[in-house]
Amino acid sequence: MDTSLPPGGGRLTGPRTVYTEAHEAFRDTVRRFFEKHVVPYHRQWERDGIVSREVWRQAGEAGILCPMMSEEYGGAGADFGYSAIVIEEIARTNCTGPGFPLHSDIVVPYIEDLATPERKAEWLPKMAAGEIIGAIAMTEPGMGSDLKAMRTTARRDGDHYVINGSKTFISNGQLADLVIVCAKTDPSAGRKGISLICVPGDAPGFRRGRNLEKIGLHAQDTSELFFEDVRVPVGNLLGEENRGFSYLIRNLPQERLVIAVRAAMGIEVMLEKTVQYTKERQAFGQPVIDFQHNRFKLADAKAQAAMFRVFADHCLALHMRGELTVELAAAAKLLGAEMQNRLFDDFLQLHGGYGYMAEYEIGRAWSDARIGRIYGGSSEIMREIIGRTL
Ligand SMILES: Cc1cc2nc3c(=O)[nH]c(=O)nc-3n(C[C@H](O)[C@H](O)[C@H](O)COP(=O)(O)OP(=O)(O)OC[C@H]3O[C@@H](n4cnc5c(N)ncnc54)[C@H](O)[C@@H]3O)c2cc1C
Repeated sequence: MDTSLPPGGGRLTGPRTVYTEAHEAFRDTVRRFFEKHVVPYHRQWERDGIVSREVWRQAGEAGILCPMMSEEYGGAGADFGYSAIVIEEIARTNCTGPGFPLHSDIVVPYIEDLATPERKAEWLPKMAAGEIIGAIAMTEPGMGSDLKAMRTTARRDGDHYVINGSKTFISNGQLADLVIVCAKTDPSAGRKGISLICVPGDAPGFRRGRNLEKIGLHAQDTSELFFEDVRVPVGNLLGEENRGFSYLIRNLPQERLVIAVRAAMGIEVMLEKTVQYTKERQAFGQPVIDFQHNRFKLADAKAQAAMFRVFADHCLALHMRGELTVELAAAAKLLGAEMQNRLFDDFLQLHGGYGYMAEYEIGRAWSDARIGRIYGGSSEIMREIIGRTL
């Protein structure tokens, strides 16, 4: 993996204004961390289908996890820009294995916003330290987009919930020590009967299924999870009973922004690498980039990448001010994921047969990017969300 590219982007649009010097200083820390603790091991993790537990603890020690968590619990109390930098460095190094953003920016906020003070004190410091790894389980074998159709139930029994059902495609599912499970507490009430309940990884009746084989994200564990009469104390409920759907709606824009930020940096980095490759590779006695068709493809890509960078940074700035709307986050995710897939396909083509080889980054980036159009709400669901505002 090549880590020689300049940090922070900005080659396409001039200096970026979304970050401060303090953000960029943090980028140095994150960058050094990735060079030392992630890049050298990533190919092995791809073969293993999972990253090491150790890298999580190392990330905790280095202050890479949960930058937004309040200092009271061991975080840095920082803004989302610090999280975005971690996401960008993952994209820049093409090391998609460590599920840090899912943990820090998707799972932890639910717990920090909605758990009881006792549970926060118990879990959050360990989550910042990388000793507790988080996951969130919405999707089931029979449903993904249509959350109200979920079949997993949580029945109240005295001071406990009893959870039954199964989930699938759960990121961090093998490693997770704490899973936010979305379950029906009132099965007759559709989306108004969903609750979010935390299940510890060692709860009796909780079982992990296969670490699923995927076409990309090979170092990222993605699992089936099974719940058979799993009893958890009612104190593990997040927020209020039956309000889970509204909590999901509130937090999903940040999840979508994570995907958009990753797309913007991924496009920029892979464009740069493709330009380098096509300058070096010769065909019919000239560099591949010298064929007008290829140069025009790359020129189009550069123009689009610049446009998306400006839009993604705009959304980032809005989110840092607490002003990112649901539909704008959906637009950023939709445009970023679709553009990334289209451009990566062109970039791969420009690499010829080498593009298809796993040892070339573009091939892995291409297969890793495919999921961007599906998870966090598919492109079609993003269009639905935007369409409702017309
Ligand atoms: C690698 C990976 C990691 C994941 N991580 C997690 C995780 O950590 N936690 C979690 O809960 N889930 C996770 N998921 C699940 C993911 O969020 C779902 O796969 C996704 O939401 C789509 O749901 P589905 O697969 O059931 O597709 P379906 O909902 O069955 O959709 C099938 C097709 O129909 C389309 N469609 C559905 N509804 C509409 C509509 N109203 N209009 C038009 N088209 C529609 C979809 O866009 C899609 O093209 C992950 C998935 C993968 C592959």
